[in-house]
Amino acid sequence: MNIKCAVFLKLLILFFHFSSLQTYSQIVEKVEPPFWWAEMQNPELQIMIYGDKVSEYDIHVNHKHLLIDLEKVENPNYIFINLSVPKDFQSTIFEINIEKDGEIKETINYELKERDKNKIQHQGFDNSDVIYLLMPDRFSNGDPNNDNSDKMLEKVNRNDHDGRHGGDIQGIINHLDYFNELGITSLWINPLLENNQKKYTYHGYAISDYYNIDPRYGNNEKYRELVDKAHEKGLKILMDVVLNHCGINHWWIKDLPSGDWIHQFSEYTQSNFRTPVLLDPYVSNYDKNLQQNGWFDSNMPDLNQQNKFLAKYLIQNTIWWIETSGIDGIRLDTQPYADKDMIAEWAKSIFQEYPNFNIVGEAWQQKIPITAYWQETNRNFDGYSSNIPVVTDFPLHYAINEAFSEEQSWTEGMAKLYYILAQDFVYSNPMNTLVFLDNHDVTRIFSTLNKDLDKLKMAIAFQLTTRGIPSVYYGTELLMEGFSHEQHGKMRQDFPGGWPNDNVNGFISEGRNEKQNEIFNFYSKLLNWRKSSEIIHSGKLTHFIPENNIYVYFRHSDDNCVMVILNNNDSNQIINTKKFNEIISQYMIGFEILSDSEIINLKHISINKKSAMIIELKK
Ligand code: CA
Repeated sequence: MNIKCAVFLKLLILFFHFSSLQTYSQIVEKVEPPFWWAEMQNPELQIMIYGDKVSEYDIHVNHKHLLIDLEKVENPNYIFINLSVPKDFQSTIFEINIEKDGEIKETINYELKERDKNKIQHQGFDNSDVIYLLMPDRFSNGDPNNDNSDKMLEKVNRNDHDGRHGGDIQGIINHLDYFNELGITSLWINPLLENNQKKYTYHGYAISDYYNIDPRYGNNEKYRELVDKAHEKGLKILMDVVLNHCGINHWWIKDLPSGDWIHQFSEYTQSNFRTPVLLDPYVSNYDKNLQQNGWFDSNMPDLNQQNKFLAKYLIQNTIWWIETSGIDGIRLDTQPYADKDMIAEWAKSIFQEYPNFNIVGEAWQQKIPITAYWQETNRNFDGYSSNIPVVTDFPLHYAINEAFSEEQSWTEGMAKLYYILAQDFVYSNPMNTLVFLDNHDVTRIFSTLNKDLDKLKMAIAFQLTTRGIPSVYYGTELLMEGFSHEQHGKMRQDFPGGWPNDNVNGFISEGRNEKQNEIFNFYSKLLNWRKSSEIIHSGKLTHFIPENNIYVYFRHSDDNCVMVILNNNDSNQIINTKKFNEIISQYMIGFEILSDSEIINLKHISINKKSAMIIELKK
């Protein structure tokens, strides 16, 4: 090899080192994952190669220490390479040669990178956190230059509720201080991966490329920048992962690896969305098949996770994102719709690599036992464990949305909250529940509560002091409204001030109106207090059966205690605290957090109508 040639080769290797997107000239169109790492816990790696009749070539991996096995599928345009990377293997670039008749037709330079172990990353999340859910297209447009992309079919149209509005990753980076001012600790961002179809792409759940951030949000490097900068500011990032379905314009769909890659029917067949069928002892095959294999939407083909190549592909894809981006946690979309054994394997594989990580699964259920089934457990009747620690608490969500507008009865009003929590015995860990007033799929809480500020404050106070991990939907702090029976885009409004030339700027107090500031300040005070209030994170919960539409509970340990009172009456009340003596008797005075006031006499506590008190008890 002459010097010129050696220099060229070195440059070529350097190029591949810094570029995650190789381009192939002849046969190969896609290599996924595009790179991997040495020193992973799991030595197995499956590489999917896609290209014209690629399986009809001889494939040679040019490295003597990598164990290799090739697998073909129905479609000759795919080949799967299974590698076993020894534990002590160093980072390297090796060649995968595509050969015919002993002649190399094309070479893939595949990189096993060195893992970055020096950064703060993969922190997980727990009861000390409060999650803020934001929709990236609707939060802030930090880079108007990326609003449209030549490669993307849908163009920006801010006048269409269901169109793309131009929000992006840079917009989130620009407002990291806002989250700290508000007092939240973690961001759950709706999916950022490419969604390339003609319309209705802003929500992000119709993924057309599992390895690239949508160019209208930025790129993979910009996502890593967001995670790093969030970490510098003490904020965590949760990725929204979709395993149940992909988008109709995913490149697979035009040329499926095999017929069973997705669930196919003679005509379009939608899921019945009835997830209880998975546990129903009297279920019909008809209903079960529809729930599992029907499509979520005509734009979202239902993936068959029982296909072993696809299952491995999806598991690796998630690990690839965790490793490349440094994220701290995952919100898993539509958990009960995907094959449950594959989901359990997926979660197990993640925790094998990242023991401190955490995952919350979207198990949208009306009823508590069915919700609890989807949480990691050793208590399910059939022995199933999802390996997913946290579940979304929809039953409590429904109760919160109803309770504050009801008169007290045996089961209604404040009793509704009581009855939900009294059934927590069905959870293997009731602390690992996501407690939310609303989210991107349901009517906004301020609309549900008929724009009543007092009710909203009570709901917030409950959410932030009961058990579980709170999740706040963006814009609740600005009193955004929206009903789910309208266009969903109307519940996913642009954050005011997120776009250049917006008339109103909700990011600063001067831009918020009086009522918005009232709620923003309410949130900010409580959230910033909660950050360091360990008793709320991990204290025991003891509650008392509501009487007279007043709900009283305590978060406590041997030495610390917070008392919460929710008065859901239209009149001021004086509470005789004698019945709480088992907890309150050892305390002398209290400090009420929301009003910054001392309570000298704990025997009788006055509380205003339709309000909450959060009292730190002192000995
Ligand atoms: Ca933009």
